[in-house]
Amino acid sequence: MPDDTADPGRALLALVVRLFPICRSITGEGVRQTLAILREHIDMAVREVPTGTQVFDWTVPQEWSVRCATLRTASGRTVADFAACNLHLVSYSEPVSRRLSFEELKPHLHTLPDQPDLIPYRTSYYRRDWGFCLRHRDYLALPDEDYDVFIDTELRDGALAYGEVFLPGETEREVLFSAHICHPSLANDNCSGLAVLTMLAKALSQRRNRFSYRFLFAPGTIGALCWLAANEERVRCVDHGLVVSCIGDGGGPVYKRSRRGDATIDRVMEAVRCDGRRAAMVDFSPYGYDERQFCSPGFNLPIGLLQRSAFGTFPQYHTSADNLDFVRPEHLASSFRMMLDIVDVLESDWVPLNLSPKGEPQLGRRGLYSATGGHTVTSDVTMGYLWVLNLADGEHSLLDIARRSGLSFRDIAHAAARLKESGLLAEAA
Ligand code: ZN
Repeated sequence: MPDDTADPGRALLALVVRLFPICRSITGEGVRQTLAILREHIDMAVREVPTGTQVFDWTVPQEWSVRCATLRTASGRTVADFAACNLHLVSYSEPVSRRLSFEELKPHLHTLPDQPDLIPYRTSYYRRDWGFCLRHRDYLALPDEDYDVFIDTELRDGALAYGEVFLPGETEREVLFSAHICHPSLANDNCSGLAVLTMLAKALSQRRNRFSYRFLFAPGTIGALCWLAANEERVRCVDHGLVVSCIGDGGGPVYKRSRRGDATIDRVMEAVRCDGRRAAMVDFSPYGYDERQFCSPGFNLPIGLLQRSAFGTFPQYHTSADNLDFVRPEHLASSFRMMLDIVDVLESDWVPLNLSPKGEPQLGRRGLYSATGGHTVTSDVTMGYLWVLNLADGEHSLLDIARRSGLSFRDIAHAAARLKESGLLAEAA
């Protein structure tokens, strides 16, 4: 069995490749098939929330399933076939079997005039409708004749499924990681997040952790709301969290802060790197993925959004170009390593207290300071000791000290560990 942590790119891409063809939506068999594949890697509870369940201001919709969907000219030429690409069918299209004129058909066709070779991704979850998504180039070539629409879908009372992994740690304080599971064949916008979080859960399940870790794989908006509604008490245990999306391309990283803006996770994201790059920091806004729900005022959880290229900014976004050519194993791997670094910072951050706070303690006597004085440049190692001792007043965590000093979290954590061994520091109560 290859070590997924040492060379995670191949395993991550293999998982994305398996998930990609499945037609997911906010309900239906595609979500269950996806969860079944994720469960091959990690023990996961699958929750089913019945149609009609009230979750805050929303209601769990009917379950949608697709057998087939085709758009053909009356003369028999196929214009769009769901079997060839699931993006052709507007998600949640109601069943239709009828002949229409081109004029009647037009309002049901969706294209991207600025990207004529790409098929767009469209949904109509909460309004009964139907439609097809086409390449604009193909749309322009359509003859003015009658069309046969055959959409063999079903909308019936069923359930919304979501997956939940819980890894208990030494404390009941939790870190929540969440990825949406509702997009059909789009590789970066959602398969990448599912793969990275699944492999992260697997890696964390094989070690001892201070925090408890919870992973959610839930349909966008309504799935996150279902989890929040079922866990209103438990969310008080969430100390840190990330929504993870669009994490398999070579851009970014881009981090959108939590609504609080000064949560620990917001500062952790300033401290970590991806392929040596700092994340571009963006302030919270109430548009995006499920951080919208987690950061609604009634919850206001310390949860931000991590992406490589930000949604809506890359030309492949919500089109047929967000495919298996767009995500790369090396980018999935660097995103995965960044997630491990985030966990490492969360796990190893602590608040030190200087036990010798009156004046500087004599470091040379303890082998922590260069014996020869007079250097014009003090090494990062020495500066690490000095910063930690100076800010170890019980008010600053190692993360705060790293930020204020400009030194890396790793250097500060190392300095604090040495000072603790030397008896100069204790963990603040
Ligand atoms: Zn999306």
